[in-house]
Amino acid sequence: MTKQLKIIKENCPQNHKCPAVKVCPVGALSQSEHEAPLINHDKCIRCGKCATFCPKKALVLEI
Ligand code: SF4
Repeated sequence: MTKQLKIIKENCPQNHKCPAVKVCPVGALSQSEHEAPLINHDKCIRCGKCATFCPKKALVLEI
């Protein structure tokens, strides 16, 4: 089964600019103000870069 990227909002303090947004090679992450980032699942290629990058482990690739 294909893995899906998920956001665990409880892990995201939502008080800063998400550094993972810039790491995504296909621009699948967006952020409004300092909210938890949103995933565009049509764009996401499930590479896992953002999941590795987020220091709070708020972005995870799950089956
Ligand atoms: S898994 Fe890769 S393609 Fe998907 S949002 Fe994260 S960095 Fe972007």
